[in-house]
Parts: sequence; structure tokens; C-alpha cells
Amino acid sequence: MDINAVAFDIDGTLYSNDRMHLQSLPFALRHIRQLKAFRRVRLELRRTRPIEDFHRLQAELFGRELGVSVGKAAEIIETVFYDRWEQVLRRVPLFPGVRETVAAFRDAGLKVAVASDFPVARKLGLLGIDGLWDCEVSTEEVGYLKPNPEPFHALLDCLGEPPERVLYVGNSYRYDVEGAKAVGMYAAHLTRRPERDSIADFSFYRYDRLRQWVLTDHHG
Ligand SMILES: [Mg+2]
Repeated sequence: MDINAVAFDIDGTLYSNDRMHLQSLPFALRHIRQLKAFRRVRLELRRTRPIEDFHRLQAELFGRELGVSVGKAAEIIETVFYDRWEQVLRRVPLFPGVRETVAAFRDAGLKVAVASDFPVARKLGLLGIDGLWDCEVSTEEVGYLKPNPEPFHALLDCLGEPPERVLYVGNSYRYDVEGAKAVGMYAAHLTRRPERDSIADFSFYRYDRLRQWVLTDHHG
């Protein structure tokens, strides 16, 4: 394997989901009904094909769940989930070694990218890691969430690389590892407990291990 680019999932990959959930507990308790409905909607969206207009369908499904109009549903999604919930990220630290790893990959001549199932740009700013990336892909804007192939193809198009030159790094086995492998990318799984018979090319929990694995053995 000889890669030219590394693409990262954001949530649960660049920072700990546990830390984020802890920080967002007061928020979650206040919005518990909406949060549960939104989770159900996102799960349904992951399984739905084809989707003509992602945000429209998301608002329709969410409105149906809550018994409110599409317009009201869209407003709640924007204010509660995309805006207020994301503000929590200001207080969530990155995993140790993320910055050093991205910098080391760039220094080694690798392109770096991020992809997320939520709007990316604002999130990178809140986490304090904007301006580092060759490509930033919001899967919502592509029109499909992971593990559908479209977000991964959008990454490859932006990077200008074939899949066999790209490593995708993510914490979800189902969405990240299986999604990336299905389009022919390499996949690294961030996890404390690697899957049995994992199809990931590498599993890790500390970023220095990922850095070493990529830079020592699999690049250039
Ligand atoms: Mg994730």
C-alpha cells in the first residue's frame, strides 16, 4: 500500500464522543424528545435511496416525528442541532496527537481531508482546526450520509486521487470502515477494541500509532 492522502471522519475520530456527550448532557436532557426523533430520522436517511433533496427530506421526516410543519422542523434542526448543539464542541478537546499527526502527514507530502455527516466548516472552527485541510466534505451537502458511496466519491474527486491511494480514518466500523472499503479505499479504525475479523487495514486508539503506521510503512 502506497498512499497519497489521508481522510478523517470528525465526530468520535478527531475528538472523543464520550467527552462530547458529557459536555452536551444538559442540552440533551432539555431536548430529549427532539434528540431521539432526530436520531431516528438520521438512521432512516442512511438507509434511504435515492434521495432527491436531503435537507427537504430530513425536515419532512423530522416534522412527521414531532407532529410539526416542514418549515418548523427545518427551523428546529437548524437552531437546535446545527447551531446550539455544535457550540458544545468549543469545550471538547481533540484526541491527544491529532494536531501533530495531521502536521506530520502534511510535512510528509500527504494530502489531508475531513468528512463529516454534519456541516463541516463551522465544526472545524469550533474545534480550532480550520485551515489545515486540502478537502472538507459535508456528506449532507453531497446528499447522502455514510456509509453510502457518494460521500467517499466526493472525497476522491476533491483529492484527485484513486481510492487505492487514500486511507480513510474513522471510529464507526459500519459507517467509516465498511463505507471506505466498499469504494476501494484503505481504512483505519479508531477503536479501543478492534472488531473480530475486522476488514480494516489497521486498528488503533492512539494517534502516535497511526502516525507511525502510515509514515513508516505505507507512504512513499
Ligand atoms: Mg464518527
